Amino acid sequence: MNLDKLRNITRETHEINIDPLQTGGRIPEATKANLVTWLDGYSVCDFCPGSLFGLKTPPIKLFIEEILPEFLGCDQARITHGAREGKYAIMHAAARPGDWIVIDANAHYSSIVAAERAGLNIKKTERTPEPEYLITPEHYKNAIEEVEDETGNPPALALVTYPDGNYGNMPNVKKIASECHKHGVPLILNAAYAVGRMPVSMRELGADFIVGSGHKSMAASGPVGVLGTTEEHAENLFRKSRYYPIKEVEMLGCTVRGMPAVSLMLSFPYVQERIKRWEEEVENARWFSSMMEKEGIAEQYGEKPHNHDLLFFVSEKLYEIAQDHKKRGFFLYHGLKKRGISGIKPGLTRQFKLSTYGLKKEELEKVINAFLEIIEENKSLLNSQ
Ligand SMILES: *Cc1c(COP(=O)(O)O)cnc(C)c1O
Repeated sequence: MNLDKLRNITRETHEINIDPLQTGGRIPEATKANLVTWLDGYSVCDFCPGSLFGLKTPPIKLFIEEILPEFLGCDQARITHGAREGKYAIMHAAARPGDWIVIDANAHYSSIVAAERAGLNIKKTERTPEPEYLITPEHYKNAIEEVEDETGNPPALALVTYPDGNYGNMPNVKKIASECHKHGVPLILNAAYAVGRMPVSMRELGADFIVGSGHKSMAASGPVGVLGTTEEHAENLFRKSRYYPIKEVEMLGCTVRGMPAVSLMLSFPYVQERIKRWEEEVENARWFSSMMEKEGIAEQYGEKPHNHDLLFFVSEKLYEIAQDHKKRGFFLYHGLKKRGISGIKPGLTRQFKLSTYGLKKEELEKVINAFLEIIEENKSLLNSQ
């Protein structure tokens, strides 16, 4: 067995990162010195009172009982391993195998896989056509009624992605929730791209469950996530084991048993401050989108004007270059990398997504200029020239 490849695993980072998966998950420098003291396995368990959620040191009890419920606008909250683990726990607790769940057409694959693992039947909503791909309350009404017509009962649950991870569209959750509630259907808010980036209140939006992702949007070293619900649903979701009365069944007793939980808490004060700048973030995203279009680089799909930092672009120009370029589609990735920019998947040119979150205007200008330089360098490959 040759283990050399395992001995020096490091990561290269670039000056500017526009990968939507990563812009909201970068941890503040100031937390690093504290974090390294928690690297050992089960480090959080030194003073375990029998359950992770009762820990005073580190302050997990305080975090889940006081800080998170206020932050998420819910009655009860827990730390999970990620958004998907939260969704699975909710679905497993609130529905039985064979039940139906309505999920928006823009949902993340992890919502579908969670439902599959819980043994649920999935009804996807419709969405409006290209290029916007919007999800409307009407779409939920129709999907719920279809389930009612086909099975004689309303679905056990509905889930809405806020925003979705492809187009960054922000559906009208308030209206979707009231549509669901008219039919007696509890609503899960998948806020993996929202909680920690922008203010989100489950209560104000009218949802029954909320999940967030620490490594996606809460400046945490994951995997870690958050989960919240109402008093009404908490009783079942956080029910205790018959055999170990202090352990919660859906949480498998204890969830995040180490450094990621501490990272989430250490970053929290920073996160709470940064969500106040959300309007500025949206302005930057809109500015970036308008520049991409004005300069003829690419067209933005999804909601316009946009309401989130996650942007989806379609570029016939970059695609055309890729057809005759010796590096094929990889010229874009390499061209950006050479200019200190990472985050667009290697090989993609015609369709790609990126995020402007946390970047300064000058950095966004640098990205626009990089695209323009790359096109200029390759203009001989454009047929239209
Ligand atoms: C990234 C993402 C997830 C997955 O989050 P995890 O915390 O990694 O499970 C779920 N939903 C959406 C919309 C996402 O973008």
